[in-house]
Order: sequence, then structure tokens, then C-alpha cells
Amino acid sequence: MSAQARQDLGLAPAAPLDPWIYADHIGVVVIDFDVIELSVECRQRLLVADSESWSGMTLREDGVTAIVVNPSHSRGRQASTLMHELAHVILKHVPARVDVSSTGMLLLSDYSEDAEAEADWLAAAMLLPRDVLISRRRIGDSISAIAKAFCVSDSLCEWRVRMTGVDVQLKRAYRK
Ligand SMILES: [Zn+2]
Repeated sequence: MSAQARQDLGLAPAAPLDPWIYADHIGVVVIDFDVIELSVECRQRLLVADSESWSGMTLREDGVTAIVVNPSHSRGRQASTLMHELAHVILKHVPARVDVSSTGMLLLSDYSEDAEAEADWLAAAMLLPRDVLISRRRIGDSISAIAKAFCVSDSLCEWRVRMTGVDVQLKRAYRK
């Protein structure tokens, strides 16, 4: 899916994938937090007082899927949040809970643990394909250099390198 997304967008196989551009490509609207009309108290709560309590949310209205990400988080964190929410959409996950607003807008939330894990794995693979990690680590790129080049957080990159076992694979290859 990661290779297909890059191909669809006319990107090189090892190019960074911008989740905002990808969202547009698959017809998902990313709503800028600043255009949402909120009271000063709400804004303060969502972006300052309780900013760690949420990363992103997915809404659906009239067949349109829209995602809002927390703008107070770092760009890298916003990218992985957005890709995570997009992964739920791509994988057609069914939320355990749907809240309906007075205007009929749906707020999708509470996915199963399995769905959350799937979305995490797919999002990380979309942002950091295994082939990219192999070629970057082979030439000695550090975790933060790769993270920077792909606009993700160091922790996501570190997790992905560990879970894909690329360093172990390279170590074995050099031992022979
Ligand atoms: Zn999720």
C-alpha cells in the first residue's frame, strides 16, 4: 500500500509521503483547526490545558470523511496522527462508538485494540517503508537523520527500525 500510494502520487519509491497530500488524494478532507468556530475556553482547553488528551479525530458527514489534528503537537507528531487516522479509513475500520452532533455529523471513536494496532502499523509503514529504512541504515544514516528527512518524530522512526528488524538484518549481512 505504501508503494502504491507513492506510485499514485507520482513519487519515487523512496520518497517521503506527505500525509496531507495523501489525504487529499484519497478524498479525505483535513480540516484546519483554526477554521473551527470555538469559544476561547474550548480552544484553551483543547490546545493548552488538555492538549495531551487528544491527537486527532475523524468526522463524517454526508459521506465526506474529515480529520482534524491537534495543531499544538509537533509537525512530526501531527503527520503520524493524520496517517493513523487515514489508516483507519483505508482499512475501513468500524468504530465501537459513534457520537452524533445536533447537525447529524458523526464523530468516530473507540476502535478496538486490534484496529488501533493495525492503524499504527500501516501508518508507520506508509510513512517509513521498510526498503527506505534498509537503504538509509546501510549508508549509515542515523535515526534522527531519517526521521528528519521523512518529517516524522525520532521515536516513530526508532520504533519502526526496531520493529522491522532492519538493523539486525544489516548486521547479519555484514558478518558474512
Ligand atoms: Zn486510532
